[in-house]
Amino acid sequence: MRISVIGCGYLGAVHAACMAKLGHEVTGVDVDERKISELSSARAPFFEPGLEELLREVQATGRLSFTTDIAAVKGSSVHFICVGTPQKDGENGADLTYVDAAAGELIPYLNDGDVVVGKSTVPVGTAARLAKIVREVQPEAHLLWNPEFLREGHAVADTLQPDRFVYGVENGSEDHHAVQVLDKVYAVALEAGSPRLVTDLPTAELVKTAANSFLATKISFINAMAELCEAAGADVTLLADAIGMDDRIGRKFLNAGIGFGGGCLPKDIRAFMARAGELGADQALTFLREVDAINMRRRTRVVELTRELCGGSLLGQRITVLGAAFKPESDDVRDSPALSIAAQLQLQGAVVTVSDPEALKNAARRFPELHYEKSTEVALRRADAVLLLTEWTEYRDLDPYEAATLVSATRILDGRNALNSNKWRAAGWTFRGLGRP
Ligand code: NAD
Repeated sequence: MRISVIGCGYLGAVHAACMAKLGHEVTGVDVDERKISELSSARAPFFEPGLEELLREVQATGRLSFTTDIAAVKGSSVHFICVGTPQKDGENGADLTYVDAAAGELIPYLNDGDVVVGKSTVPVGTAARLAKIVREVQPEAHLLWNPEFLREGHAVADTLQPDRFVYGVENGSEDHHAVQVLDKVYAVALEAGSPRLVTDLPTAELVKTAANSFLATKISFINAMAELCEAAGADVTLLADAIGMDDRIGRKFLNAGIGFGGGCLPKDIRAFMARAGELGADQALTFLREVDAINMRRRTRVVELTRELCGGSLLGQRITVLGAAFKPESDDVRDSPALSIAAQLQLQGAVVTVSDPEALKNAARRFPELHYEKSTEVALRRADAVLLLTEWTEYRDLDPYEAATLVSATRILDGRNALNSNKWRAAGWTFRGLGRP
């Protein structure tokens, strides 16, 4: 099939490459010339495991091309909208400027029977509004909402074989023409067993925001338990193991630490609250305000713990922060808790060095005032305290004896509860975890 993908960021670039891998002819469109130039040369404009290899593989087949010219969507019969929906400046709601612009630019090129597939995360009601606009200009085209659940760091596998497909169509019916078209696009994954659910448009939009709200709530729940464990002298990691054994609860997303960040969870729960308010249902989501507050409190808590670890003052303390990305296996620093803590420490008088295997370029763009060092070994030299804030494998595997020979003072704060505290203490380190004695 001939497919266009509009917006080639973390979601769209992976989607375009994976659709070509499935055998489709794909045109990726983005307004960012740098991104398009890199993608056209089969280089990934961001770090995502396996993406660059995939780009090289599919571009060699001639089935994948990239351009900044929207007119290139002509001839495609399926058009995926994958542009960003960031938080509005100074407000909780989602900024729909990019989605509206992408739809507006695409619509003049639609032919009879074409299907527009929204993948961006949008406030409920957006799809119905866009479907109406599409119908007014091209009555024979269809709009479907197909929210995306990929995880950065696993994006290629998640796109090729997702754990579910959700298709939202206007009449909510399996017989809708757009359902049959999308089934053809995803035939390989469907045959391999990925389940799919057909819903109406608002349900499909809500599935995505509800899923992210649930995940955010789970993380904030265990972080609230960490606060209690700290107050009561208990250990949140053992508590999580024990409650996680109940399969109604489950152990996943129960790691207490510095909280969630990234380009999705924080802005999605805020946009959800804002939209609920517009719909007169704000009471239903007031709990998300608490979820957000617990999450942001973690960052302040780490700054306070670091001050304690440094003997009461941060002034002039050389602090090494391991990790800048919002999570391992990604270079995404959007709303990264690690970077926000690093910046706070610097503001309060510490001399901060940040290290990360992949995210330093993005981090330096966001916080140019911090000092960055690629090599872990160099970053650790002469540190007065070390903070592990993004749990990359190379940091989990650090040898506490070797690390001790590099630093000025053997003090470490494990912001992700990823290290073996006994091992570090045995090597002479003063060790602090979150929610642990
Ligand atoms: P991103 O910022 O990495 O990418 C968005 C891209 O859209 C950018 O490259 C931008 O230049 C491009 N763009 C903006 N306006 C355009 C236009 N008019 N025409 C063409 N391109 C345009 O964002 P992302 O992380 O890929 O997220 C995209 C959407 O997917 C968001 O709604 C997000 O919530 C959702 N989502 C993201 C993930 C994820 O893990 N990143 C997962 C699921 C859903």
